[in-house]
Amino acid sequence: MGRSFLAFGILVPFGCKCIELADMIISTLKIDKRDLSLKIDYVSHIEMSLIRISNGSSLQFYLELKHRDICITTFALHINVVSSSNEFLYEVIADGTKNIVDLTRMICTCNQFQKAGVPCQRGLAVAGEKKDQRYNYCSRYNTKETYLAT
Ligand SMILES: [Zn+2]
Repeated sequence: MGRSFLAFGILVPFGCKCIELADMIISTLKIDKRDLSLKIDYVSHIEMSLIRISNGSSLQFYLELKHRDICITTFALHINVVSSSNEFLYEVIADGTKNIVDLTRMICTCNQFQKAGVPCQRGLAVAGEKKDQRYNYCSRYNTKETYLAT
């Protein structure tokens, strides 16, 4: 059980250390330092798979990827804070705004998810990141087979 965050646009300075990254995340997300264990992954743009940042060299690799990419929304940080209640509740931070996506109830605080019946950008990011097969029909894998398989 834990709280999950998908954070776009956290500016990680080059040469940043793991402990400094953790401190940046803690202050950006305003999470309580006491009850926490952080798991930091980033979303690779290949199939939206997650790659763990667990030590100095994986962080260095991440920074180099990030450094070469001009778009700040790529390689979003996915942060798992182990301690609280609902793993399907995501806070998605992008462009300075925060939205809460609830995958179980298929709602997002931007209101587009529940209105349109298909995930908004943030919903999609969360679903893709959780590899949630239910949402495949509205992603780029839009085939009859995957739709029927769900
Ligand atoms: Zn939304």
